[in-house]
Amino acid sequence: MAGNLINGYGTIIAMNKRLIVGNWKMNPITLDEAKKIANKIKRIAPTLSSVETVIAPPFPFIIPCGGRNKVKHFSLGAQSASIEIDRGPYTGEVSATMLGEVGVEYVIVGHSEQRKRGETDETVSKKVKAVLEAGLSPIVCVGEVVRDEAGDYLNVLKNQIKNSLANVEAKSAGSIVLAYEPVWAIGAAEPMKNDDIYESSLFVKKVFSDMFGPEAGVKVKVLYGGSVNYRNAGDIVRVGKVDGLLVGRESVNAPGFVELLKAVDDVK
Ligand code: PEP
Repeated sequence: MAGNLINGYGTIIAMNKRLIVGNWKMNPITLDEAKKIANKIKRIAPTLSSVETVIAPPFPFIIPCGGRNKVKHFSLGAQSASIEIDRGPYTGEVSATMLGEVGVEYVIVGHSEQRKRGETDETVSKKVKAVLEAGLSPIVCVGEVVRDEAGDYLNVLKNQIKNSLANVEAKSAGSIVLAYEPVWAIGAAEPMKNDDIYESSLFVKKVFSDMFGPEAGVKVKVLYGGSVNYRNAGDIVRVGKVDGLLVGRESVNAPGFVELLKAVDDVK
């Protein structure tokens, strides 16, 4: 398992902890529902010894879902941030600095659903830089759209990682989380096969290590995302040997997400 992750807020995710991130996407519809889901997760998170839980609700729900008090082993995330770090005439944008002001510690960057709507590696790299400058940890999503038999997807993956992290200085490498999400496995019926998850996450680590050095490569947390639920999460972590999970649909199903967290916590 990977090493300590430190962000500007002083959160240290220890070596033996797995990071489970709930990407709520544009869900749920009501604030009441959002608070109910968050409260259930906040009740279980402090009781888990080997899991750190992050929820990334839509922007307007972040503050109410966080509540007033810091909860042990629980952090807030956001689903995106502007490439702009300072204030200014950027209608519709939310900066990483502002997110940090309201208690956000992680920002998902480069999710395939954003890439599908036009986000390029270049934009992703600017967002990563802005998030790091704000002292937060970017969760940088990478993953091939298709798996071709000739294995070209490995080149696709490598280029995506290199380009998305092009603006990162070596001293900031310790704040980065990578989420390997094969696009074809997102919102699907089944996740990727566990052995393939293991192989691909190692490849992602290797590319990161080539960029930032072997120590950074050992320490970086690589998450898997794509059709994870409470039934398959334990095996994905155990057999796929990933440092955590990025969870979509199951993260807004409170009972399922709570079981998922427990299942991962049970993997020793
Ligand atoms: C995601 O959107 O990051 C994701 C992994 O979604 P799902 O778990 O629903 O496949």
